[in-house]
Amino acid sequence: MTYKHAKSLISFLKNGLTPFHVTDNITNILKANGFKVLDIKKSFKIEANQKYYVIKNDSAIIAFTTGDLKALKNGFKIIGAHTDSPSIKIKPQPEFKDEEKYLRLNTEVYGGPILNTWFDRPLTLAGRISFLKEGEITNTNINFVRPLMIIPNLAIHLNRKVNEGQKIDKQKELLPFIMTVDNDQKKEDYLLKLIAEKLALKKEQILDFDLYLRDTAQPKIMGSKEEFLSAGQIDDLGMVHAGLQAFLKSSDNKFKLLTLFDNEEVGSHTEVGADSPLLNNLLERIVYGLEGGREDYLQIIENSFMVSADMAHAFHPAYADKHDPTNKPIINSGLVIKVSSNRSYTTNSSSGAYIKKLCFENDIEYQSFVNNSNQKGGSTIGPPNVRQLGIESVDIGNPILSMHSIRELYGLGDHESSIKLMTAFYND
Ligand code: ZN
Repeated sequence: MTYKHAKSLISFLKNGLTPFHVTDNITNILKANGFKVLDIKKSFKIEANQKYYVIKNDSAIIAFTTGDLKALKNGFKIIGAHTDSPSIKIKPQPEFKDEEKYLRLNTEVYGGPILNTWFDRPLTLAGRISFLKEGEITNTNINFVRPLMIIPNLAIHLNRKVNEGQKIDKQKELLPFIMTVDNDQKKEDYLLKLIAEKLALKKEQILDFDLYLRDTAQPKIMGSKEEFLSAGQIDDLGMVHAGLQAFLKSSDNKFKLLTLFDNEEVGSHTEVGADSPLLNNLLERIVYGLEGGREDYLQIIENSFMVSADMAHAFHPAYADKHDPTNKPIINSGLVIKVSSNRSYTTNSSSGAYIKKLCFENDIEYQSFVNNSNQKGGSTIGPPNVRQLGIESVDIGNPILSMHSIRELYGLGDHESSIKLMTAFYND
């Protein structure tokens, strides 16, 4: 079985190693589709029936179309997802200057990765570099691509209990080995020199960086029916890709937005996160830019709807007791509507019913996710958006296994279902 969007999803994942790369890749796709950039630091000139995007700090991006002015009263149709994924990040001055013969880099954990999946894998470095160019600070993305480093396990002979549950010391054990060095070789500023060489800069020009470790293994379609995708960063680039496909192929005759935030994995409370005024400020500027007033804006918000799209936990038969006994999402059995009585998901019976109606009308399979009552579960970008905007919202996703592993397991059939649902939502 071949899936229509599999190839494009794989290339999207390969191009999106960090939120900076995801934003850059989407910028290129939007430009190729006739979208115009608006500089959020300057005054906006917004017209009806146009296609725009804004970028915040290189890692959050919002694309939108303005339809006919009459359509504005019907509200904004918004799909949200996040550009970041759990990772291991390089600390400032990362080189160890002790006597050992290996050069290792100092790191800290970003978000909540399954740490043991990061061992024994050839890793590369990618992210953003800030450097001085003719007296100005310039930001640029960097991706070394090649396998540069590895975090080796301790041999089982030296730790016979390794298979009985292992606590990982983040400061001690998560330091990747990058090279061997002779005693007289200076390890100082090795990373800065490597970056300078890659970007054809002088070491002294580099002021700062956001650099993440990334797996060099490529996404793989797999399973005897070739229905699965094993890849890193499916959470949430799978939903970012689905949202983008739907956004580009649905009617531009509406006020629709694709909002992609950074920093969901660390709580969203940043200037590029969902718990920031970023989206709210933009929506206000769109309404005022089209000569609406405050009353119009408030009315439009009440008529708007958000689909918060983030991955969901698929049922894992080996750990049935961790899942809800009557709601068991299975990979490739349809997209997932997420509900939670404590509203860690934004779905309510009315917004959930709306998604179900779209599914019925468009012949799309869906499932429900709810936490086992003894599990706290995670959250996502829906609740902070609701807090910022007071907008009606639903949380959906696709079922995946191994969430936050360096490689997650996804269903290509579900990917098609979510694109279909998102397209129907934008066109509704
Ligand atoms: Zn997520």
